[in-house]
Amino acid sequence: CGIVGVLGTHEVAPMLVEALKRLEYRGYDSAGIATVNNGVLDRRRAVGKLVNLSDELVHNPLAGKSGIGHTRWATHGAPTVDNAHPHRAGPVAVVHNGIIENFRELREELAAAGVDFVTETDTETVALLTEQAMKSGLTPVDAARSVTARLEGAFALCFLFEGEQDLMIATRMGSPLAIGHGDGEMFVGSDAFALAPMTADVTYLEEGDFAVLTRTSLEIRDVNGTLANRKKQRINLDA
Ligand code: GLU
Repeated sequence: CGIVGVLGTHEVAPMLVEALKRLEYRGYDSAGIATVNNGVLDRRRAVGKLVNLSDELVHNPLAGKSGIGHTRWATHGAPTVDNAHPHRAGPVAVVHNGIIENFRELREELAAAGVDFVTETDTETVALLTEQAMKSGLTPVDAARSVTARLEGAFALCFLFEGEQDLMIATRMGSPLAIGHGDGEMFVGSDAFALAPMTADVTYLEEGDFAVLTRTSLEIRDVNGTLANRKKQRINLDA
């Protein structure tokens, strides 16, 4: 149960796996990453230890300089490859820690609209709703914002979008999330320790914060949608 994200200047797959290793202490049953490469969104997932994901990446490499990663501690749905994150619906990939308490209602709404499910997770509803919102004409940011506003429970989420090589969304309510600042790079992690090899400059998201990241910008809005000024701090961790 950890989240990482990188908008980088180098290939991110090894960085994501490395950062996930630093979150292993939290426990997990499966893992996965997604990247955007030349606009194309793709993912790799594996059950069990991170070494299984690394093996999968040896056989089926994943290129790209933008990516998100996840270690899963299953709460809804067995620890299978299909239920592993990132979850994908059309142009949307999402990783999630925590529980979406109202996912059954959201799932029923999607089912009534004729949407099919491929997993038993609470998380898949977030990907599917975001895809629906984009189909209705919303931008990726507005789609993610409108869907996040409907979620109940404790969660940290990170979104990545097909066709968007310089965009990532990170939002939290009840689960921790930190943003790392690099030199023309931006990072997301469940804790600053995960980001320590990449940066020591960290901004902690507060409850309800919704952050829009590019490689050179970070915009954080609080739970009321007001621009929030969260301070950047230099942390002292032995990487
Ligand atoms: N509830 C989600 C799932 O079961 C996320 C679990 C987690 O925090 O890793 O897939």
